[in-house]
Amino acid sequence: MTRKGLLIDYDYCSGCMSCVVACKQEHGYPAGKWGIKVEEKVFMDPGKPDTVRIDYIPFPTEFCDLCAARTSKGDEPSCVKHCQAWCMYYGTIQELALLMEDKHRSVLYSR
Ligand code: SF4
Ligand code: SF4
Repeated sequence: MTRKGLLIDYDYCSGCMSCVVACKQEHGYPAGKWGIKVEEKVFMDPGKPDTVRIDYIPFPTEFCDLCAARTSKGDEPSCVKHCQAWCMYYGTIQELALLMEDKHRSVLYSR
């Protein structure tokens, strides 16, 4: 079987958390259980004390099943469908690896 995965281009992630909510609703996970989380990283530039850079880095957890129930019917994973920035992709590892070549900062998840 061809391995599938998720590619997340976090250069464009706005930290909107739509993927987190969509995953939670799709699976009905209880409090404290998440299929995906988004980490906020704040960077200070010593040369510009009045400014910060904030990165949002989504990462699927061990509870991500790549939305097996949806994808077996040909639907996109719930997080991909609801991503506000269109920066999430689902496909084979080979397809995602090709897409990754153009992306400077991305996360690839597979299972
Ligand atoms: S692919 Fe499905 S299970 Fe995995 S993070 Fe996205 S919504 Fe959650
Ligand atoms: S839905 Fe997209 S833009 Fe929003 S936090 Fe998730 S990956 Fe980032």
